[in-house]
Parts: sequence; C-alpha cells; structure tokens
Amino acid sequence: MAASSLGSYDYVIVGAGTAGCVLANRLSADPTVSVLLLEAGGKDDYFWIHIPVGYLYTINNPRTDWCYKTEPDEGLNGRSIGYARGKVLGGCSSINAMIYMRGQRSDYDYWAALGNRGWSWDEVLPYFKRTEDYAHGADELHGAGGELRVEERRVNWEILDAWRDAAEECGIPKIAEFNRGDNFGNAYFQMNQRSGVRWSATKAFLRPILHRSNLTVMTHAHVQRIRVETSDGIRRAAGVELRTKAAGDGVVEARREIILAAGAIGSPQILQLSGIGPAALLRERGAPVVHDLPGVGENLHDHLQVRIVYKVKNVTTLNQRANSVFGKAAMGLEYLLFRTGPLTMPPSQLGAFARSDPSQPSANIEWHVQPLSLDKFGDPLHRFPAITPSVCNLRPTSRGHIRIKSTDPDAYPAIKLNYLSTEEDRKVAVDSIRFTRRIMAARALARYAPEELKPGPSLQTDAELMQAAGNLGTTIFHPVGTCKMGHDELAVVDDRLRLHGVAGLRVVDASVMPRITSGNTNAPTVMIAERGAEMIIEERKAAAQAQPRVPANAGEKATA
Ligand SMILES: Cc1cc2nc3c(=O)[nH]c(=O)nc-3n(C[C@H](O)[C@H](O)[C@H](O)COP(=O)(O)OP(=O)(O)OC[C@H]3O[C@@H](n4cnc5c(N)ncnc54)[C@H](O)[C@@H]3O)c2cc1C
Repeated sequence: MAASSLGSYDYVIVGAGTAGCVLANRLSADPTVSVLLLEAGGKDDYFWIHIPVGYLYTINNPRTDWCYKTEPDEGLNGRSIGYARGKVLGGCSSINAMIYMRGQRSDYDYWAALGNRGWSWDEVLPYFKRTEDYAHGADELHGAGGELRVEERRVNWEILDAWRDAAEECGIPKIAEFNRGDNFGNAYFQMNQRSGVRWSATKAFLRPILHRSNLTVMTHAHVQRIRVETSDGIRRAAGVELRTKAAGDGVVEARREIILAAGAIGSPQILQLSGIGPAALLRERGAPVVHDLPGVGENLHDHLQVRIVYKVKNVTTLNQRANSVFGKAAMGLEYLLFRTGPLTMPPSQLGAFARSDPSQPSANIEWHVQPLSLDKFGDPLHRFPAITPSVCNLRPTSRGHIRIKSTDPDAYPAIKLNYLSTEEDRKVAVDSIRFTRRIMAARALARYAPEELKPGPSLQTDAELMQAAGNLGTTIFHPVGTCKMGHDELAVVDDRLRLHGVAGLRVVDASVMPRITSGNTNAPTVMIAERGAEMIIEERKAAAQAQPRVPANAGEKATA
C-alpha cells in the first residue's frame, strides 16, 4: 500500500458504531485535542434505517450490513448462518432491534470478581444513567437528559397481552421494566427510539457534535492495519493504514492513541492483520508476528435464539396486516399521521426472563416474543396468523473464535461460534423449548388455539429437541468477548481497556466483555464506551499535569 499521509490526529477511533460514536463525542469535547473517526461503511442516509420496521430490510443488505456468514457449525447440524453486523455510521445501532437492556447486576459483579476493577454493577450504573434520556424521567436507577433516548412501545397486540398472562401463569411475573439490575419477569421492551423513529448511536452521540472543528469523520474508510513501532523494547501503536474512497490509500498518524471500536468481529480482525494475536495463527496465515497475544479473536460467544413458531386463531398478528394491501396502507398512514402502529416496532416487542431450571443462580433465558412469523429474516411474513416466542440462553458456555484466513484485509475472517458445543448449552436449549411449550399451553392462550409449527409437537425426547434446536437456532446478533478484558492468559486488554503489551492502543467496544451480559448488548456497549472515554480523558489530564505539553497542530480536516 502506498504510504501517503492522510494526516495526524491526537486520537484515531476505528469504527463509528455504537462505541465509536460515544467515544467521538466524549473525546472531542475538549477543543484542544483532535479526533479522527473512521468508518468502513457509508453515511446513515438510507430511509429504512430510521423507520423501526425497516430492520427487516437493513439486515442482509450490503448497503448497511457486512453480510458475514459463519463457518458451518456442528451444533447447528452443519449449517452456516448469516451474521449481520452494521456497516454504516452507527454500526449495529443503525440496524439493530433497538431494545434497551442493561443485563443483570450479577453480570458486572462477575466481571469485577475476575479482577476487573471498576466494573461492578454499582460502579457501572452511573455510566448507564449518564448516557440515558429515560422517557419516564430520572430516578435512582435511570437517567434523564443524557443522549440515548429510551421510550416505550407505540403499538399493542392482543396476542402479546395474552402471552404475558400465560407467562405469569407459568411463574414469570409481570413487571414494569427490565433495567433495574434484576430482569426476572415479563414486560414490554423499552427501546432506543424518539417518537417512533430509531435513535441510533449516530443520532444520539455523533450528529449533535459534527460541527466541532476538532472532529473529523471519514466514511468509506476501511482500516487495514495498525502500525506498531518499537523503541527501547517498547511497542507503540503509531498509526493506521487505511483505504479510503475519497483520498485513496494512506496512513494516519495517532499522536496519543488509537482506539479500536470496530466491534467483536472487526477489532480482533484488525489486530491479527497487524501482527497482534496468537503467534501460531499469524505464522500460519503469513502475517508478521509483532506481538504474540493468544486471546485475540478467542472467547467468541453470542446468544443463540431458538425460533419457535405457533400458528394462532381468532386474533390479528402482523402476518395478516402485512399481507393485505389495505393493512399495509393503514399501517403506513398511521405512521405518517401519528408515528404509531406496526411501523414503529422492532420485530420483538415483548420480553421475558426466567431460569431454565431452578439450579440457575438468576434468570438465564430470555424470550423475544414477536407477533409475526417468517422462515428466515429477509423472507416474507407467513400469510396465516402466528407468533414467534423465540428463546435464547443468556450465559452460554460454548466458545468460538474469529481468525483471519489470509493477510488480505478485504477477506472476511473465519467466524466460528461452536454453538451448542457444551452439554450445559444443549440442556438449556432443550429445557427452553419445553418451557416455551408450557407457556403456550397456558389457559390465557387457549382461546387462540395455538398450534406448534416449529419444532413440531411430534418431537418430544431430549435427542429430538436437541436436534430441533440445532435446526432452528440462529444468532440474536450479540457477539462479544474476542478482545476480552482481564489478566489471564487469554486477556487482550486490561481493566482500563489498554491492550496488553502495546502502548497507545485500546479496544473499546463489545469485544472487551469477558462474559456476555444476560440480555441484549447495545446498552452495555454504550456504557463500556462511556467508561472507556472517561479513562482516556483521565489519563490525558494526568499526563498533562505530569508533563506540560506543547499543543500539536490540529489534524487535517478530511471530508466525510
Ligand atoms: C441485527 C441486529 C440486531 C440487534 N438487536 C439488538 C437490540 O435490539 N438490542 C441490543 O441491545 N443489541 C442489539 N444488537 C447488538 C448491538 O447492536 C451490538 O452489541 C452493539 O451495537 C455493538 O457495538 P460495537 O460498537 O461493539 O460494534 P458495532 O456497532 O458493530 O460498530 C463497529 C463499527 O466498526 C466498523 N468497522 C469494522 N471494521 C472496520 C474497519 N476495518 N475499518 C473501519 N471501520 C470498521 C463497522 O462498520 C461498524 O460501524 C443487535 C445487533 C444486530 C446486528
């Protein structure tokens, strides 16, 4: 690659996704530092990003999605599945299902118990609150006036109300909301929306600060590698090599730090391409070994959803409305006039959390209940009324990896999940299907005559249900852990998110979670970025006090 200089900045942030937008906002708040935000995708100007139901059209669409595919997975009976990741300003927050979910107190207390100082629930709660603009106002657990808007649903479905009653009959109580540290119960999800429109990380954190003269945002800028220089035995990240649409190939210098926020797939991929990762893998792929760090790309885990489908009667679901011309017109009109109705909904509106068996220390499964059914995302909705009470294991023990296949930055890495590869995960999957059947058989749903379509009532033994979980299982899009925080041999960053063994380099995104949170992962990623930014700022101030610094020239302004 030609090494033409594309400028020099104090901070270079790689990836303008959920974490990258928060980082850009916080770091550029000080006008004396220059910040460059690099994004491989384009601007978030696609109509369907903003209308919540557009979720169905942004997944598997190269305009907004990297459109990865996983390696064939034994646990999924040899299937390879589509693995959506946002490739656009806002990253996954521009294409996700908008559910605002913090996880459980015990998730963060577990991170802290692993030796990660400052990450217990009590310590992270202020960061959730600081970023939040809760529609019901502030209380001891919620924040108001922050950037990330959190609102209630704007459409009701009779079948979902009945499902809530049925879940309650089965011991899952109705609760007001899930974000108070213990999410056991059933409730309607709260969402990142403002008045029926998606409220992505871009809208919350980036758009309001685009006028800052010390912030440069470059879209269609694909980072290929990090340049590491070694002096006196100390390795230091000095710059990034990138391919841009606007200015061609080049190198950007980072005067203070490079912050990887390219997500659980992108961040380990860039590190490995840069020669930072497991030495044996790097050698095998022909990459230089700059720093042998065995955990880069390991510890990949995700929530696997088992999509169980029931036909129902005597009730309207989205299937009928979406399959009728009149229904579609009415939905469009309702949205245009009132910003209410089905166009405001992400597919899942109703949630429930419970223990798959009493030995679990806290709720370990989550249902996403959808008043619709389809064969797979991207396919049309079925023509008959139906619901999909999809269920996932929140604390899987299966672990996979991200590994580059070659040194070509354009080649997608191997994404290997090893779903359902542990006995425990297989048991949770089977127990979850049986639990879902109990709910669907509850009195509250009887008047809708639910008929199990998938996996099908003839499948009853553990072996049959295990096989069914492998056939129906798919990602719920929560990969984490591939640059995990910690101090063991697979840790990639320390508890201040600094890369072990290379100065001037941090990872701040979902990949640093040592273990996945017991819920959806976007709000935890916002929290991680808020904390990460604060750490960076603290260290800058401490360094300035220790050694007064001559201000460097501001970075060159590049076009987005
Ligand atoms: C379809 C879908 C539905 C989801 N639903 C929900 C939900 O309802 N609620 C919830 O809490 N979570 C949900 N999630 C998960 C959640 O959105 C993610 O956990 C979160 O956005 C991760 O943030 P991140 O900053 O780590 O990564 P991302 O948001 O993925 O950001 C990474 C960014 O880096 C860019 N990038 C990657 N590689 C490079 C490179 N080489 N050069 C330059 N840029 C690069 C990417 O294009 C992307 O913009 C969903 C995710 C998906 C995909």
